[in-house]
Amino acid sequence: MTKQEYINEAESNLLHTYNRFNLVIEKGDGVYLYDTDGKKYLDFASGIAVFAFGYNNKEYNDALKEQIDKIIHTSNLFYNVPATEAAKKLTAISGMDRVFFTNSGTEAIEGAVKTARKYGYNRDGSNDHEIIAMKHSFHGRSMGALSVTGNDKYQEPFKPLIGGVKFADFNDLESVKALVNSKTIAIILEPVQGEGGIYPATKEFMEGVRKICDDNDILLIFDEIQCGMGRTGKMFAHDYYGVKPDVLTMAKALGCGIPVGAFLVNEKAAVLVPGDHGTTYGGNPLATAAVNKVLEMFEKTKVLDNVNSVSEYLESKLDELTDKYDFVKGHRGKGLMQGIIIDKPLGEIITKCIENGLIIISAGSNVLRLVPPLIITNENVDEMISILSTVLDEYK
Ligand SMILES: *Cc1c(COP(=O)(O)O)cnc(C)c1O
Repeated sequence: MTKQEYINEAESNLLHTYNRFNLVIEKGDGVYLYDTDGKKYLDFASGIAVFAFGYNNKEYNDALKEQIDKIIHTSNLFYNVPATEAAKKLTAISGMDRVFFTNSGTEAIEGAVKTARKYGYNRDGSNDHEIIAMKHSFHGRSMGALSVTGNDKYQEPFKPLIGGVKFADFNDLESVKALVNSKTIAIILEPVQGEGGIYPATKEFMEGVRKICDDNDILLIFDEIQCGMGRTGKMFAHDYYGVKPDVLTMAKALGCGIPVGAFLVNEKAAVLVPGDHGTTYGGNPLATAAVNKVLEMFEKTKVLDNVNSVSEYLESKLDELTDKYDFVKGHRGKGLMQGIIIDKPLGEIITKCIENGLIIISAGSNVLRLVPPLIITNENVDEMISILSTVLDEYK
């Protein structure tokens, strides 16, 4: 079949919930993707911050193959070895006490929201608790996660959502304080907002929110589904701030391509008990074998050092870009999670980049989002800048 035939067939059978780019991806290798026409693309999206170690990593692929030949799934009625090992590694690197494995990010958020509700129920026996979330946040598409996602457009057609959610302004401590009352049971935020436009939290905000939670017996939930797993140059973005959450959500690069997420809790927030929560697939041996291998690769490669050195180079190149084009209004982010603010039609720019062999995505309405594999080199950065500049030159 030709590319157009694949696309036509996909569009006649898949529910049209995405306006997809005009290419059919066939395979990946390292930081490059190849489409069905054999065309090569430098990938600065990594499957939306998923492929931390790039595509077709032999060690990772072999680990999965080996697990497939043993057992893929057991259900959670039994113990299994990969989940046991993965939970131990995850608590060790995060400093959290307990893990619940999910199949996606949005399910990790559901678990965090249920944890908050149960914590409140235990706290005072009532059922009218409130959660404070942030404007421009993104936490997922299932009903609970959507309810704490600060985006009217995503929410509107699906109301009524779960009740008791209020939205504060990110990085504005006073706006959070104004919403806290005796019913408040949790505050949820992304230490670096992703989808909303790559906004890192300030230290003052993170510390202030932690204090509000401590003073009022409120759970602090950090959604590190996108900004965690080394993306920002530390294992978790909250490591930059010296502020710990009570509940931590993860997904995306946790499995590096195998669908897996997790919510982690400290002992105080370990309130869910048998009967409260469950999942058929969550934490199955295949998914957690992926987590194990990914965490092992974080330990034994110096990938965080690479993130820190390459991102320094990347940021210097983004400075140059900002100087060169007056419609490039600047950039912000941490590590290899960067946003370039562009005052020109983004969709069109992205389409042109893709035509020129660079896969790049957006965040918010005017931000180009760079979330490449964590293994990229300075040469890959040069290659990206060269293609992006070729496209931006057309708008001068
Ligand atoms: C992607 C994302 C989610 C949702 O994860 P899914 O696996 O798509 O359900 C939640 N929170 C953040 C911060 C994300 O980036």
